[in-house]
Amino acid sequence: MDKKTFLKSITLLGAGALVKPSLANGLFADENLVDWQYQTPPFTLPKLDYEFSALEPHIDALTMEIHHDKHHAAYVANLNKAVENSRFSGKDLKTIMYELTADDTAVRNNGGGHFNHSFFWKLLTPNCSKKPIGKLAKAIDIQFGSFEKFQEQFNNAAKSRFGSGWAWLSANKKTNELFISSTPNQDNPAMWNVLKEEEQGVPILALDVWEHAYYLHYQNKRPDYISAFWNVVNWEYAEQNFSS
Ligand code: MN
Repeated sequence: MDKKTFLKSITLLGAGALVKPSLANGLFADENLVDWQYQTPPFTLPKLDYEFSALEPHIDALTMEIHHDKHHAAYVANLNKAVENSRFSGKDLKTIMYELTADDTAVRNNGGGHFNHSFFWKLLTPNCSKKPIGKLAKAIDIQFGSFEKFQEQFNNAAKSRFGSGWAWLSANKKTNELFISSTPNQDNPAMWNVLKEEEQGVPILALDVWEHAYYLHYQNKRPDYISAFWNVVNWEYAEQNFSS
């Protein structure tokens, strides 16, 4: 379909309210088709690409349901309140991450919560290849020596994060080199105005190590949850994040 025909069909459909046209990013798209990173307020809770039970036995259905429907939903609702009538209104989620400062407490906590969880759900899959693929696989070997050495370093970052937070694989903002880090609370490597320069990056892989992510099934055994994570990683999505 060429652009003219496409616009025409959108106009016709628009009358029936079947399609809600949006000019975000210069694209006409149903809101659900907009990549979560480019969502603008009001933010919505993204649907999962799989059932709550799809990641069992590694991540149990009840944990997934509460994590998505209660925890993530609360971040979305509170973020919408925080950005309303603020300098962030109308900006997309990724841009908000890049621009927020340490003083924007509510946007930092809830925007981070929405960004991190939307990202995390996409990074999980019942069809895990068990190993990285493509350019990312090569880059991991070059940067860390091997996939096993990378895993060991990532596991340590996830285990040693005290209290609530996240472990990350990111590409350095300036050099594009891969690095592993961990952040407290709902901070993430895309919060460039919050982090030290060497911690600023573009996220590729993430693991939620808040107790709400694993406590029902694993209780205090965070290391068991971390090992289980490697059985449900969506390496295709991680590869997309690296290549784009
Ligand atoms: Mn969480």
